[in-house]
Amino acid sequence: MTGLLLDGTWAKGPGRLPVADKYTGDLIAELQVPGPDQIDTAISSAARAVGQLPCGERAMILRRAARLLDERRATILAQYVAETGFTPADATTELDRTLLILELSAQEALRLTGEMVPVQAAAGHDNSLCFTLRVPVGVVAAITPFNAPLSTVAHKIAPALAAGNAVVLKPAEQTPLSSIALVRALLDAGLPDRLVQLLPGPGETVGDQLIRHPDVRYITFTGSTEVGRHIRAVSGLARTHLELGSNSPTLLWQDADLGHALPLIVRAGYRKAGQVCTSVQRLLVHETITDEVTSRLTTLIGAIPYGDPRAPGTQVGPLISAAAAGRAESLVKDAVGQGSRLLTGGMREGAMMSPTLLAGLPEKARLASEEAFAPVLATAPVGSLDEAIRMANATGYGLQAGVFCQDLDVAFAFAHRLEMGGVIINDTSSCHPDPMPYGGVKDSGQGAEGPSYAVADMTDSRTVLIRHRPPAS
Ligand code: NAD
Repeated sequence: MTGLLLDGTWAKGPGRLPVADKYTGDLIAELQVPGPDQIDTAISSAARAVGQLPCGERAMILRRAARLLDERRATILAQYVAETGFTPADATTELDRTLLILELSAQEALRLTGEMVPVQAAAGHDNSLCFTLRVPVGVVAAITPFNAPLSTVAHKIAPALAAGNAVVLKPAEQTPLSSIALVRALLDAGLPDRLVQLLPGPGETVGDQLIRHPDVRYITFTGSTEVGRHIRAVSGLARTHLELGSNSPTLLWQDADLGHALPLIVRAGYRKAGQVCTSVQRLLVHETITDEVTSRLTTLIGAIPYGDPRAPGTQVGPLISAAAAGRAESLVKDAVGQGSRLLTGGMREGAMMSPTLLAGLPEKARLASEEAFAPVLATAPVGSLDEAIRMANATGYGLQAGVFCQDLDVAFAFAHRLEMGGVIINDTSSCHPDPMPYGGVKDSGQGAEGPSYAVADMTDSRTVLIRHRPPAS
């Protein structure tokens, strides 16, 4: 497997990208990394392929690719678990979401349409007809993070192809194998091979050349805020869609149904070892219920099985690297040093971190404002609506917030006043049905994902005005 798909061929490049099993550390693949000339070739090859397929064929190919992925499920899941360190249950959820994203994108390909414009209102246009067409933007560069190597990649390439574009995909260097499986399914489903180019390799070289290239018209990026800022700074006039970092709050109001809320919070804080952008990191709890909440959470979180992701029952596997786990550990130590109480977890060995719960997180602790991206959740008490909203909004981020409450007036107040791309009532910050518009504000990004929103954004509007003379009577 070379992994480098360039101008219609699986090619060799001057560099190598080793891919390791994130739990055992074993080498599981070595991919080819393209050189600068090959990256230019990929972009020009993609540019020539734009607009090649009618919408009906695009929809058919996306649907067929979903069927193929489903048929290949066992192999894809095993490879996914190895390259991510996530559990088979997390892998299955992501694959199922990917199938839905392909189907939703196929549907969007079939209803791509413009609008009629009533230009007759303007003097002299009684006999004009004006309408808009949606046309592909051209070459879309898709750059993706390590933590959702199937569904995030699908959220980018499926709408891009549905809209009639060509895609140059640069997957995360830690988890590129799932992208290869997705691209193979598309090719086997009949996608003309130049409509997608796959460039494995480091962000600093392969990714950086892509985002600076003048023939890339649209950059769809998910990853850290730091890299998102860099993309905006160097990408010239290319349109950008940025899904960036977060430190997501979830709020438990005094009337919350804890039997409903707590299992959802535990799942959303610890699945994929907390390496989810909307993961519950800060839990703001009404001061009247903090004792009950922390006691019940300590029991639930202390019982989470962690370790080998392939062992039956494991819910939390390793982090993506020992360095990532070390950084999370330092955030926990800082929080404890600032006065937080460690209720369970806090142990680290290599890339493995035990599911960790802290209580009484002070606002000055780094964990209150930085992103942990780890199985770490910290509670903080809130006494009033104003205090809850102020604390939830107190970071630079603004991706999603969850609010558990029964009182509709309180729910509306949160919906109106939380500075987030999404406010989820009676579920966690991590609730993300794929059809909905999904994206952040502030340092969490700009633009919205979700096939119908992405397809609209990945097209340009072309205005057509036809002037005609009335026939001579
Ligand atoms: P990252 O920013 O380190 O890398 C993301 C991608 O950018 C990778 O493919 C990487 O190779 C590439 N890249 C790095 N430097 C680049 C450069 N100079 N030019 C072009 N590309 C470059 O992020 P990560 O560690 O893979 O993922 C974790 C981050 O992603 C977290 O901050 C998380 O919150 C964020 N994330 C956000 C969402 C969302 O929906 N908002 C979803 C998932 C992950």
